[in-house]
Amino acid sequence: MTAGLLPQSTRPLQLTLWRTAQWIGVALTVALLAGLVWSPELTLRLLWNAAIPVLPATFLVTPQLWRNVCPLATLTMLPSDRPSSRKITEGTVRTATVIGLVLLVVLVPARRAVFNTDGPFLATTIGAVAVLALVAGMAYHRKAGFCNAICPVLPVERLYGQRPLLKVQNVRCLPCIQCTDRGCLDRSHLDSLRTVLGPRRNTIDWMFTPFGIFAASFPGFIVAYFLAHDGAPAVTTYMQVLQGMVISFVAVVLLARTFRATASTGITLLGALSAGCYYWFVAPGVTNAFGLGPAVMWCIRIASLALVTFWLARATRGNGAAPVVERVLPIAR
Ligand code: SF4
Repeated sequence: MTAGLLPQSTRPLQLTLWRTAQWIGVALTVALLAGLVWSPELTLRLLWNAAIPVLPATFLVTPQLWRNVCPLATLTMLPSDRPSSRKITEGTVRTATVIGLVLLVVLVPARRAVFNTDGPFLATTIGAVAVLALVAGMAYHRKAGFCNAICPVLPVERLYGQRPLLKVQNVRCLPCIQCTDRGCLDRSHLDSLRTVLGPRRNTIDWMFTPFGIFAASFPGFIVAYFLAHDGAPAVTTYMQVLQGMVISFVAVVLLARTFRATASTGITLLGALSAGCYYWFVAPGVTNAFGLGPAVMWCIRIASLALVTFWLARATRGNGAAPVVERVLPIAR
C-alpha cells in the first residue's frame, strides 16, 4: 500500500479516530431524537439550518467523509457478516435503488407539511429508517441492503459525489468482500454511476434511466421545494414539486438532445446546477434562522458557488475523475 499524508505508525490511530467518530455520530443521533421530542423548536432549527446544509458541500468534496461516519451506516453494519446475512442479488438492488429514489422524492417535500415543524413526527420517521437500516444489515452483507441500495440519500451522494475533490478511504470495509455487484459508491464513484445508469449511459437516452430521470428532475425539484411554504397542504406542495420536476426534466431532455450531451457531461452539469440551486435558495433560510444579516447570506452564496464552480471546472477537465488531493487519511488494510 502506498504511503499516505500521515506516517504509517499513525494509521491504527486514524482507524480509532474514525471508529470514535462513528460512535459519536450514533450518540448525536440519539441526542437528536431526544431533542426532537423534548426541545423540538431549537433542534429543528439546528438540524435544518445548520447540520443538513453542510452535507451537500461535503458530498462535493467527497461523499466518503459522510459515508465513513453516517450513523445509519454504522447501524446497518452492526449485524453484518452474520451467517444469516447473504449477498444481495442484482434484481433486489435495482428494485431497492428505485425505492430509495421514490423515498427521497416523497420525504423531502414532506418537510413542508410536517418535518420542518413537527419534532416528534420527524423523530419517529428517523427511528423507522434506523430500524430499516438494521433490518437491511441483518438480511444482507455489509452496506449492500441499505447504504448501497435503499438509502434515500444515496442518489444525492451519487450525483454530488461523482467527481470528488478529495480521496478518502472507506474505513468500514477492511477488506472489501464485494457485498454488492451493483455500483458500490465506496469502491468507485465512477463505476457506481456507470452501473446505476446501465447500458443506456452510452446513448442519448441516458436521461430515461431511473437515475437519469432523477438527475434531470433534481434542479426543478430543489427550486420547487424552496418556493413552497411550510404548513401548506401536502397536496399543494407535492403538486408544486412534481411540476418543478417535470419542467426540469423536459428542459434537460430538449437541451441534451439538441446538444447531443453524453451522460457524463449531462450528469456532471446537473450535479453542479443542483448544488448551485440548493445553496442559492438555502442561504436566506439559514441566515434568517439564526438572525444573521444579508452579508452572511451573500457570503454563503458566494462561497458555495465558488465551491461548485471549482468542482465543475475539475470535473469537466479531461482527468476530472482524479481527485484533487490523493491519499488523504489512508488506512492500512
Ligand atoms: S466496499 Fe465492498 S464490502 Fe464495502 S459496501 Fe462496498 S462492495 Fe460492500
